[in-house]
Amino acid sequence: MIKHNRLSSEQYAENFSDIHPPYESITAAKVDANRCLFCYDAPCMKSCPTSIDVPKFIKQIATENIKGSAKTIFSSNIMGAGCSKVCPVEKLCEGACVYNLLEEEPIPIARLQRYSREMAMKENWQLFQRKNSTGKRWPLLVQALQA
Ligand code: SF4
Repeated sequence: MIKHNRLSSEQYAENFSDIHPPYESITAAKVDANRCLFCYDAPCMKSCPTSIDVPKFIKQIATENIKGSAKTIFSSNIMGAGCSKVCPVEKLCEGACVYNLLEEEPIPIARLQRYSREMAMKENWQLFQRKNSTGKRWPLLVQALQA
C-alpha cells in the first residue's frame, strides 16, 4: 500500500510560516526600532551585501518616517522587498548586530525592512522619479530592425 506523504497542518504551519512575520501595528515596529543603538560604523550595515544603511532606515521607522525608510532601503537595494523575506539575516546583518555580543536578541532588521517595504507597496508610494528621455536609442539594434 502506498502511503501519502503529505504534511500535517501543524507541520505545514511550522515549515512554511513566515520567518519574519509582519508587525501588527506601527507601535510594535517602533518598539523594536527604538531598541537600535544606531551604531557608528554599524556592523549590520557592513555585513549587508547591498550596504543598506540599516541604522538610518531603522531611525526613520522609529520617527515614523516610513516613506523615508523605504526610500533608504530601495536606494541601496531595489530587491529589498524580497530580501527582507529570504535573506539569511542571521548570518549577515542580524548576525553582526552588536546585541549578539551582549547575548541579547539582535534587532529584527529583516522584519523592520519587511514592514517598511510592505507599507510602501500598500500605500503605492512613488519613491523615485523617472528621468527625462535623452532621445538616445540603441542605434545598432534600431538599424538592424529597420534593415
Ligand atoms: S548593529 Fe544592531 S544596534 Fe547597531 S545599528 Fe545595527 S541594528 Fe542597530
